[in-house]
Parts: sequence; structure tokens; C-alpha cells
Amino acid sequence: MGGGAAGTESDAQTSAPAGADPGQAAAEGGKAAVSDEQGEAAGQAGAEESPAKAAATAAAAKTVAAKRKEIFGPRKGIKSQTVLVVGGGIAGITAAIEIAETGFDVVLLEQGPALGGRVTRLNLYFPKMCHPNCGLEINYQRIRNNRRLKVMTMSQVLSVAGKAGDYKVKVRTRPTYTTRDCNGCGECAKVVKKKIPNRYNYGMDKMAAAYLPHEHAFPMRYVIDPGVKGTADAKKLEKACPAGAIDFGQEDEEFELNAGAIVWATGWRPYDARKLEVYSYGHSPDIINNVEMERLASHDGPSGGKILRPSNGKEVKKVALIQCAGSRDINHLPYCSMICCLASLKHAAYVREQHGDAEVDIYYIDIRAHDKMSQFYERVRQDEKIKFIKSKPGHIDIGEDGRPVLCGERTIDREIYAEPYDLVVLATGMEPSLNGSSAPDGISRDEYGFVVDDGGQFSAGVAGGPFDVALSTQSATAAALKAIQAVRGGVS
Ligand SMILES: Cc1cc2nc3c(=O)[nH]c(=O)nc-3n(C[C@H](O)[C@H](O)[C@H](O)COP(=O)(O)OP(=O)(O)OC[C@H]3O[C@@H](n4cnc5c(N)ncnc54)[C@H](O)[C@@H]3O)c2cc1C
Ligand code: SF4
Ligand code: SF4
Repeated sequence: MGGGAAGTESDAQTSAPAGADPGQAAAEGGKAAVSDEQGEAAGQAGAEESPAKAAATAAAAKTVAAKRKEIFGPRKGIKSQTVLVVGGGIAGITAAIEIAETGFDVVLLEQGPALGGRVTRLNLYFPKMCHPNCGLEINYQRIRNNRRLKVMTMSQVLSVAGKAGDYKVKVRTRPTYTTRDCNGCGECAKVVKKKIPNRYNYGMDKMAAAYLPHEHAFPMRYVIDPGVKGTADAKKLEKACPAGAIDFGQEDEEFELNAGAIVWATGWRPYDARKLEVYSYGHSPDIINNVEMERLASHDGPSGGKILRPSNGKEVKKVALIQCAGSRDINHLPYCSMICCLASLKHAAYVREQHGDAEVDIYYIDIRAHDKMSQFYERVRQDEKIKFIKSKPGHIDIGEDGRPVLCGERTIDREIYAEPYDLVVLATGMEPSLNGSSAPDGISRDEYGFVVDDGGQFSAGVAGGPFDVALSTQSATAAALKAIQAVRGGVS
């Protein structure tokens, strides 16, 4: 996996030096390849057939080429047929593969060091409750096998100018300080002294400053934190690397890329639970959000997959899950985030599988378990240790023993409660990741920040609305089709 992955990424990077145009380069490469195949077909025919037949075959090949150009070639005003996909999560990966497998050139930009997005950080994912990286690995194989698809990690869009059929996009690529010769041996991680917060685990633990983004990373290449450059650690790393794959001479690179259409697949981030002051997030390590719960349950998470109290590492006996933490609230996210009811049902199941005598209380307004997932909801309801309490807790106190205490009123019997728990999980919603970031001008977005299609720029996945993985991939396929129509110029 490592060699191919690194190759894919490096090819894209080396074809895009500062000031060059990888979008155009990719498009030109694609056209040349089509002509070569046609030339070869005509040549073979000539060797085996009479001159008259060979001429007829060559003429037929020309007709096919002309027909192909007529069908797939750009209409007037389309300057580039390359599609730029921004964001390498499941939606961006899906859109990029669909477009490339249809025969169009694609550049897939990802701001982080590896593809996969937030799905890679889930423990298991519904509906099948399988490991998320199984499905992703099949997609990585399709990327490796497709020469029309260029992946560029550590890359972000700085600005977009132009219009459908003719965008000029400024991109910045940050260094990893490793080269494509990195073989993933991990020697650098063994010798580096510096520790940094583990981003993959949402900062719940620390990791070495020379790291593989995660065990299934694509590309499988180590990254060195910029804080190591120029320190004593840097020299140790260079000495330890058996492949000579460390290069502290790398710098930020900026370049321009031409594209006929852009797919925004920039995804989401968890709503910032610190804004929910009444829930005391940040005041106790035992109050976490739902993405942290995924990491807590994961074998490569901060506690090796054991759901323990973050404050003292002890077993959890009583867990509360608070629904709609920030969602369906005009002061925070006014919309329903769609997946957090299902995520909490999953979290209740995680706890019950690990701790046979643990109790889980789910505080909810109403439970939204749609389609096939209603069966999963019914299954969870059968467990008598999982209670559904209709109430939105008013606030969380920290008890004298350090445990979080949920305070509020039950909606049905109007009973007032003050209930202590070992662990409280806030089911925070999904916010578009472009919110609050320096998103380039010229992207149409709705009142919540989700991307709205405009004829040349399209949304895929959660960049366009709160979706689960199945809906994200469906929307990505739709975006792929719209992007192809945009670079093709529509039917006439
Ligand atoms: C707690 C929780 C549990 C969940 N569990 C499940 C589940 O079990 N099953 C399920 O189907 N769904 C689940 N989901 C939903 C699932 O995570 C989303 O459907 C999925 O992540 C959507 O993928 P995406 O590609 O749209 O976005 P993301 O996964 O967010 O990927 C976006 C990618 O774009 C990159 N990016 C962002 N901005 C830029 C930029 N400016 N430039 C370049 N790159 C950028 C990011 O680094 C990221 O790699 C869960 C969600 C939560 C909150
Ligand atoms: S020591 Fe070198 S080859 Fe090995 S993982 Fe680190 S950078 Fe890659
Ligand atoms: S999915 Fe459930 S928890 Fe999430 S916002 Fe909607 S109702 Fe609330």
C-alpha cells in the first residue's frame, strides 16, 4: 500500500511546482493517452491487414476519435475539463473516483496528511457496525489504479477566481518533511523526544512529533511536526532514517491550478462543546463529546479501546448520553444534525458490550432513528440497563467527589433530578468545516454555512448538509455527475 500511495501523492506534487498548473497538466496527459491508444490500434491493424483495409480501419479510428471528442469534449467557453475536488473524506474520495473512472481528469486536494476524513476516526460504523477502514481500503485501491486521479495531501485552496468551465485556483501545500522514499519503518518516531497532542484522538493523549497519521493511513507516509525543524531532535531523526527520507529543506509551496468545475467535499467538525457553558465541558475530563467517545472505544484510541473514566482510568458504571447538545437550538445549531441519535445508540451499545453491569441513561427530546436503523434502535431498547429519559438536562454540576451531576426535569412525570455519573457524553452536532475557517470567497453557502451548488461549484457529503456515510456517498455521486456536466458543457 505504501509505495503506491506515496507515488500517487508525489506524482501530483512533482507535476505542480510553484507557478505550474497541475490541472492543465493532468488534462493534457489524459488527452495524449487517448491518442496513443488509438494510434496503437491503427498500427496493429496495419501490420495484419491489406493496405486498403488498414486505411479503412484508420479512418474508422479517426471517426471514433471525432465522435468521442464530440461526446466528451468541451463545449464553447470550457477552458479546462479537469475537476478539482476539495476534501479527501469519504465524500471527496467517492466524487473523485466516480469522475476519474468516467474518463475525466481529477485533482483531489486534502488539507491533512492522509485521506479518509472523520470516518477513519470512528470505532465502528453503522449500519453494518464494521471497521470504517475496510470500505476505505477498496477506494484507495481504485485511486492507485487510476492515472487520471491525482491526490495532493497537505494542500488547501487559498482563492478561487473565474467561472464554470474556467476556474483559476490558488493552492498552498505544506511540507511533511518526509519524501516519497519513506517506507513507514517508524524509526523516526522511536528517536524523537518531542511530544505533541494527538490530533487523531482529538487531543485526548500525546504522541511523538514524528508520526504516521494512523495505522491505515493513505498515503502510508510519516509526517514530522514543524516544531522539530532546527532542534537537536531534527539531527537525530536524519541520522536514524534508514531510507534517507527526511528533508527539512521542504517549504510551503503555492501554485495555480486550472479547473472547469469544483466539488467542495470539505465535511464537518463537531460543534464546539465549550460554547454550551451549562454543560461544563472542559471543567471535568469525564465530560466528553461524541467524537471523543468514538476514540475512547477504538483499539488505537487513548485508552487502547477500553471505555474508562478519563479522570482516573477506572471502569465506568454509570454513563449519561445527552442528545441534541447544541443542535436544534436557535442559540447554537438550529438544525437537526441527523446522525447523533444513531451515534448515541451505538455508544450505548459500546458501553454495554464492554461493561456487563454498567447502566446507560440516554437523555433525549425525541429519538431520530431513520430507515433501516429503526431496527437497531429497537434492539438497543430491549436492553434493560439502557434507559431512555425524555428530558433536556438544564445544566451539569461537578460533585464533591469530582463526578459530573446532571440536573434537570423529566418531561413526562415532571420529576426534578440531580444524578451523578462516571462519564457524560454530549451528542454534539455536525457543523460545516468551512465555518469559521478562512474559506475562499466565491463559494455559495446557505445561512448555516453549507455549500449550495451554483452551476460550476458543487457540494458533496456533509459540506452540503448533515449526512451519514451512505447519504454522503450518494450526494458525492450526484456531485460527480454535475461536475462532469459542467466540464462537458451540458447537452446540446
Ligand atoms: C459521533 C459520530 C459518529 C458517527 N458515526 C457514523 C456511523 O457509524 N455511520 C455513518 O454512516 N456515519 C456516521 N457519522 C457521520 C459521518 O462521520 C459522516 O457522514 C462522514 O464523515 C461524512 O464524510 P465527508 O467526506 O462528507 O466529511 P469528512 O469526514 O469531514 O471529510 C472531509 C475532509 O475534507 C478535509 N478538508 C476540510 N476542509 C478542507 C479544506 N479547506 N481544504 C482541503 N481539505 C479540507 C478534511 O480534512 C477531511 O479529510 C458519525 C458522525 C458523528 C458525529
Ligand atoms: S525513519 Fe525514515 S523511512 Fe522510516 S518512517 Fe521515518 S521517515 Fe519514513
Ligand atoms: S439526530 Fe437526534 S441528537 Fe442529533 S440533533 Fe437530531 S434529534 Fe438531536
